[in-house]
Amino acid sequence: VSRHYVLASRALFGTGEKRVLKAVRNVDFDIYQSENFGIVGESGCGKSTLMRLLTALEKPDTGAITFEGTDIFAQNAAGLRAYRRKLQLVLQDPFNSLPPRSAIGAIIGEPLIIHGLASSGKAMRARVLEVMGEVGLPKELYEELPSTLTASQRQRVNVGRALILEPKVILMDETLSALGQTEQGQLLDLFERLQIQHNLTYIYISHDIAMVRRVCARVAVMYLGEVVELAHNERLFFDPGHPYSKALLSAAPTLEERRYNAADCLLEGEPPSPINLPVGCAFASRCPKAFDRCRVESPVLQDRGGIDRAACHLLDIVPATPQEIPA
Ligand code: SF4
Ligand code: MG
Repeated sequence: VSRHYVLASRALFGTGEKRVLKAVRNVDFDIYQSENFGIVGESGCGKSTLMRLLTALEKPDTGAITFEGTDIFAQNAAGLRAYRRKLQLVLQDPFNSLPPRSAIGAIIGEPLIIHGLASSGKAMRARVLEVMGEVGLPKELYEELPSTLTASQRQRVNVGRALILEPKVILMDETLSALGQTEQGQLLDLFERLQIQHNLTYIYISHDIAMVRRVCARVAVMYLGEVVELAHNERLFFDPGHPYSKALLSAAPTLEERRYNAADCLLEGEPPSPINLPVGCAFASRCPKAFDRCRVESPVLQDRGGIDRAACHLLDIVPATPQEIPA
């Protein structure tokens, strides 16, 4: 089985004002083929920056992002273009992202032109219709304008635009956030079918914890530009290792089956400025469990068994004894 993975590590950014904005740092993880990987955190946690790194819109100051074993920035322009084709992005907000005066068929086919993959008009039309069928858009919509479509159909157009390039990875950045529960469910079913059919890997970047709980096999929890916990689904939702993860999960109203005491970990206050990061643990100013060591020493990610890791000094005190996780 060929596995590809994306690995980002220790990226630093400079701001225009000579101050160092550490938008993302100490980020180091693998993503495996055909998995659903989730990235969660509050706004400003570095999710967007991580997305820009993964899509090669930004280059890390240090460290590397590798895809199928190749450092994506260490290849020539053609290699980088090929990578960008393999990793497609589907954003939130279907209402503003489609050009209002273009027909649906032209919108879905456009990436083929951009990437120089367009053949004859007839072949392109056939390919667009094929993709429309795959994403559940009736072929009658080929000549229609975006304004005649529902929000869910518009999002299917965006997925079609991504799919037409035959990507290996689709990065879903709050893709379903603007949709109602029913449409979300229908699109998640569609994503699952497409995943099986095309061996796709999905990266879900979202603040919607319940959605991530439903679909992601592994999840990275980010706080102030760092991954503070990396865990598989059951472990994270039943036995989170980081106080911030607990707080984040506690704030999600639809998670009923949690094992820990949600009242212990209410999330209060604002995160500190990423321009002036505090010494020690970045979460200390909001952590109900903070103690002296937290204000002088930064915790590093440590193993909690298997592939699960969390960055908190408490893990040195309370031995990591995994609770029994229901099947
Ligand atoms: Fe809280 Fe300390 Fe753990 Fe940071 S290291 S999350 S402040 S207990
Ligand atoms: Mg952001």
